[in-house]
Amino acid sequence: MSDTDGKKPLGLGGAPRSGQVKQSFSHGRTKSVVVETKRKRVVVPVAKPGTPGAPAAAGTASHLGDPSKRPAGITDAEMERRLAALRVAKAREAEDAARRAEDEREREEERARKRDEAETKEREERERIEAARAKAAEEERLRAEAAAEAAARAVQRKADVLGTTRRQPAQPAAAEKPAADGRPARNPAPAAPAVDDAIARAPMGAKPGLAPARNKTDREREERERNAKAKAGDEGRRSGKLTLNDALAGEGGRTRSMAAMKRKQEKARQKAMGFGNKPEKQFRDVQLPESITVSELANRMSERAADVVKSLMKMGMMVTMNQAIDADTAELVIEEFGHKVVRVSDADVEQAIEQTKDAAADLETRPPVITIMGHVDHGKTSLLDALRKANVVQGEAGGITQHIGAYQVVTDKGQKLTFLDTPGHAAFTSMRSRGAQVTDIVVLVVAADDAVMPQTIEAIAHAKAAKVPMIVAINKMDKHGADATKVRTDLLQHEIVVEAMSGDVQDVEVSAKTGMGLDNLLEAIALQAEILELRANPNRNASGAVIEAKLDVGRGPIATVLHQNGTLNKGDIFVVGEQWGKVRALINDQGERVDHAGPSVPVEVLGLSGTPSAGDTLNVVETEAQAREIADYRAKSAKDKRAAIGAATTLEQLMAKAKADQDVAELPIIVKADVQGSAEAIVQALEKVGNDEVRVRVLSYGVGAITDTDVSLAEASKCPIIGFNVRANASARNSAHQKGVELRYYSIIYDLVDDIKAAASGLLKAEIRETFIGYAQIKEVFKVTGIGQVAGCLVTEGVARRSAGVRLLRDNVVIHEGTLKTLKRFKDEVKEVISGQECGMAFERYEDIRAGDVIEIFEREEVQRTLA
Ligand code: GDP
Repeated sequence: MSDTDGKKPLGLGGAPRSGQVKQSFSHGRTKSVVVETKRKRVVVPVAKPGTPGAPAAAGTASHLGDPSKRPAGITDAEMERRLAALRVAKAREAEDAARRAEDEREREEERARKRDEAETKEREERERIEAARAKAAEEERLRAEAAAEAAARAVQRKADVLGTTRRQPAQPAAAEKPAADGRPARNPAPAAPAVDDAIARAPMGAKPGLAPARNKTDREREERERNAKAKAGDEGRRSGKLTLNDALAGEGGRTRSMAAMKRKQEKARQKAMGFGNKPEKQFRDVQLPESITVSELANRMSERAADVVKSLMKMGMMVTMNQAIDADTAELVIEEFGHKVVRVSDADVEQAIEQTKDAAADLETRPPVITIMGHVDHGKTSLLDALRKANVVQGEAGGITQHIGAYQVVTDKGQKLTFLDTPGHAAFTSMRSRGAQVTDIVVLVVAADDAVMPQTIEAIAHAKAAKVPMIVAINKMDKHGADATKVRTDLLQHEIVVEAMSGDVQDVEVSAKTGMGLDNLLEAIALQAEILELRANPNRNASGAVIEAKLDVGRGPIATVLHQNGTLNKGDIFVVGEQWGKVRALINDQGERVDHAGPSVPVEVLGLSGTPSAGDTLNVVETEAQAREIADYRAKSAKDKRAAIGAATTLEQLMAKAKADQDVAELPIIVKADVQGSAEAIVQALEKVGNDEVRVRVLSYGVGAITDTDVSLAEASKCPIIGFNVRANASARNSAHQKGVELRYYSIIYDLVDDIKAAASGLLKAEIRETFIGYAQIKEVFKVTGIGQVAGCLVTEGVARRSAGVRLLRDNVVIHEGTLKTLKRFKDEVKEVISGQECGMAFERYEDIRAGDVIEIFEREEVQRTLA
């Protein structure tokens, strides 16, 4: 039970004092119990007015104890009670006085203690300052000693040591400063931490005696001395040579071995050189044939195929590992990987072909090879025929009985000239594109009655590109109105300055019809040939070019060949393009069988394995095996090359093709012709047909009769087959009929081209032309049940037609285009409303119309177009 005297309830003295106590029982039960305590009633004497406090009361008590001096009217009992109260009061007073005295004593003690503490602090402060000063002095002494020692040890360190000593006296000065100020130094000089240390360690509360304080100071001084010594030693070393070890030891305290340092250096060096940890790359000589698959290329470079594909992608070529790329692209890749390219020319097998150069003594003059070029109908064929002195110009079709592609004429002076029988620049260019530069001289035919025409200009460009000298034959001079001067001046515009105009290009006025000037032409050619000094060695293996090739039903594949060098003999083994063979027979331009054909002598060669292409070169080799090997190799590489061209499509090309495929309509056709030259001329002519929207695509072309294979291809591609001077064989004819494949036969190229042009025109989308027929202004907008929003308009221009197209313009911006749902005039549905009249219009599936909008009325018409 505890008394709760802190909460004394108000009331009379002796009133029970109450509080609450919590009683605890087992099982955690508790109970609060109210506790009351009774206190003895203390009677406080009533102080008289004017009596100040207790002393007065005491005085009163003594006075009351004397009955004589007792005031009247006070009973004994009362007196006793009062005296008792007085006693109690006195006892209390004495108690209070004793407590006060005790308090006073305690205060006095506290004051004394504080005084002592202050004194101790002051003393300690003094001691600390003293200690700091002593320490600074000690340090200086030690430094001086160390300096002296170092100076004695090494002469070369002298300067450094002196530097140190010179620097050091500054420090004690800093340490002295706090002494002067009476404050601890803030300077982090060696003295300052020591002072701080002393402060931290000094006992604060107790009264420290002087002796222990001195002891402590001594100990600290010793410690500082040790530190200072160690530092001086350190500095002494540092002032000397600073080794890598010292530097590193200073950093982390851990020393590295020399080997570790070397390793680190080597690592850094390699990193700097960009090798990383990879082994050094091997650079190789990469043998590069004309086409190579990506994986083979990667293999030869010892690179990963994926890396090669990636590098090709960077160049914009999307190829897979198994696709072939051409040598030029492969070269770029090889260089990118840092390897060296070794181009393998036409593979080793080709070395079987004789490559030796002829000695000057072995060379003999050879006839020039002449190509006649010029605009259509300027008389090329007529001229060739006139020169040949054979009248075969009955018509281009069927008139040529002996067609071997070239013929020779002999001039009056006995000079031989070889003319290519394929007029026009198409054949000339296609031959040149195959690398066969057969032509030595170009005769440019210009009709005097027509002057320079587009194909004349093209012919000039081709001749110039091939760097072949030109002779201008101004034809049709027999014609009335022929103007040779006009031809000459026209040619000036194309940088052809003829001799008549003081230039260096020979010009001859001729007439194919009358034969006028032909001799002069031949003479001019002979002169030009002399200037060219055309020479060849007839006594070696022949090498020539195919002018034309065809597949003859009875005789098999036939090639017309012109040799630039050597002589071809019957029985010679040769390779021609991707074909090979053994000369079974040689036929000259007269249709005669010959055993030999020398340089510039055109002959038909029989005995080929297949039909070569115009422009292929023919080379005689020693054995059949060699011939076969070379032909096989060429066939394979040509196939690879074709694959490479197909595969190696750049991104731009792919995208362009994708776009073109969407927009361009194609007319596919298959072409079969009697001779290679015609086939190629047709293909070239057809490729020019078309424009951005329509084009002719020749799926396949070849020489010989139309076969079942052609018909199958045509059926699959849904395209017609063009036969130029050839017909379909019986079986192909039947299957074409069954499959509904169209076969078209032609004998004249221009007819063929015109027909195809007409067919391609059919593919052209009709042009849509738009014409404005009127304008109307919206005045009001009504809502009509069953129709919707109806615009009340005034036709301001032209007419409004129900069937026409309409555009809604708001502030001159087209916001809708469509058709009309209704066109009303006074509630009647009308077809047309003319300018100045009012009408009601409603749009088909469009409601957002407002007053002030303008309606544009237009009509569209389709215009069928044709190819130019
Ligand atoms: P090509 O298309 O250049 O081969 O020209 P052609 O040789 O087919 O001749 C076209 C036309 O011009 C034919 O009708 C010839 O008869 C005619 N022709 C060619 N040369 C002459 C000529 O010298 N004088 C005249 N008057 N007509 C000629």
